[in-house]
Amino acid sequence: MSSITTDLTDFPLASETQKYLESALIGHVIEGDVVASRSGETMPIIHPATGAEIGWAAAGGPDDVEQAVTSARRAFDDGRWRDLAPLEKERRLRRLSELVAEHADVFSDIDVLDAGLLKVYTGFIVQATLDAVDYYAGWPSKISGTIPAVPNDVAVYVVREPVGVIGLVVPWNGPTFVLGFIAAALACGNSVVVKPAEQTPMAAVLMGQLCLEAGIPPGVVNVLQGTGETVGAALVAHPGVDAIAFTGSIETGRRIQAAAAPRVKRVSLELGGKSAQIVFADAELETAAATAAMAVWGASGQVCTAGSRVLVQRSIHDELVERIAAVSRGLRIGSPFDPAVDLGPVVSAQQLDRITGYVAIGNDEGAALTLGGRRHGDVGYFFEPTIFSDVRNDMRIAQEEIFGPVMCVIPFDTEEDAFTIANDTEYGLSAGVWTSDVTRAHRAYRALRAGTVWVNTYQEVNAAVPYGGVKQSGHGRALGAASLDELLQTKTVWMKVSR
Ligand code: NAD
Repeated sequence: MSSITTDLTDFPLASETQKYLESALIGHVIEGDVVASRSGETMPIIHPATGAEIGWAAAGGPDDVEQAVTSARRAFDDGRWRDLAPLEKERRLRRLSELVAEHADVFSDIDVLDAGLLKVYTGFIVQATLDAVDYYAGWPSKISGTIPAVPNDVAVYVVREPVGVIGLVVPWNGPTFVLGFIAAALACGNSVVVKPAEQTPMAAVLMGQLCLEAGIPPGVVNVLQGTGETVGAALVAHPGVDAIAFTGSIETGRRIQAAAAPRVKRVSLELGGKSAQIVFADAELETAAATAAMAVWGASGQVCTAGSRVLVQRSIHDELVERIAAVSRGLRIGSPFDPAVDLGPVVSAQQLDRITGYVAIGNDEGAALTLGGRRHGDVGYFFEPTIFSDVRNDMRIAQEEIFGPVMCVIPFDTEEDAFTIANDTEYGLSAGVWTSDVTRAHRAYRALRAGTVWVNTYQEVNAAVPYGGVKQSGHGRALGAASLDELLQTKTVWMKVSR
């Protein structure tokens, strides 16, 4: 039986993807088995480029949450993964990486099917995921503690241990990438329960299956499908879950932090952004314009680090806006499977409505609509690349995360103004600076309150480099050695050695 109901020949899928989907059950993964919900409830899987229902996924409820957490708890407590020798963990994580590489086309196809992301972009996500799995596969044998300097009559050592059962709650804008978080949690010896977004249930099931094939014991990686309000909330509140690693919107992040408080659970939050890209008059404008544009149009603006506020020094304002508009007018909008297409759909009808609503707000606020502003076509959820210029930073379109292909261009006069405007937001995920003055670049990175600052580039990521926000963009770090701090805890051991 397969969860996919549409004739698969409707899509230009790789033959391995067709084969996988012909029998795939998009269910929960609990104790090593892919299962439907106890209640039998399902939720539709929609392809965003057509709006058509292409299949269904299990929609979990309290019984499924109970089973998945019990499974992960048991797996952690009996040490079936935690107590494996570090080098054995590394071998199995490397095997996982090989299996992901063998299934690269399947992952990239299924991320196109349910998230609507461009196939070229999902190919990039799969590669970034592979890099993350490879990176974490090397960690188990390098995690070590410390021996503090203490008087001779005692020995003290500080060991680092896994936190326990980690609830991973993730969004829809890069479904396969969650495997990088899973690999990080596993490298530290934890068990996990993954809750994918309800819009994108497909990739996590395959990951759960590949983890088993790689030799990660049943119960160590579980997947729970369902809505945030039912499954997500129950997972966060469950006493068997020790820590929550959440990626998603600021509103949900606030709810999760509050819900974790009664049990004083560890929470790490990777939230949204309203990132500024600051273009100074001394910048190399051709590259700045092209990169700044794609930093908003990439994944149709549905990237947490989208550089959606473009701050431009007034003397080059008109020229830069024209250059960005020229790049953007030439974008081809269409099927995310078509390699010639630059801009695919947004994820859902709800997201399309949200973007349409913000464009109306921008018009009401008096920003100048320089490009786009409308839905593209009437099939699927496409929106034109949209540029508002003459935006003031106190407008709602400049302050609130739209998560769509909408750019706000804001003029500034001095360097000091630029940094003040860039920091005048509740978010602090990332910032970009375009300048040929290296001393200004240094002043900029010190002045900007953001988790990442890119200079003369934007949205570079690397598995070895920490990533995360400040202010209300969250706390905690993904990737790099810093991410291990979220997944390990210290234990201090005192031993009397002489009297
Ligand atoms: P969302 O907050 O609506 O949902 C994220 C996840 O949380 C989903 O799995 C959802 O089912 C679940 N959820 C919803 N309510 C819940 C609750 N009460 N308890 C527990 N879980 C709940 O976010 P989204 O719309 O799926 O994703 C877009 C957002 O994610 C944007 O704000 C974007 O900036 C952010 N994001 C941030 C990063 C980052 O690394 N900082 C990366 C990607 C996306």
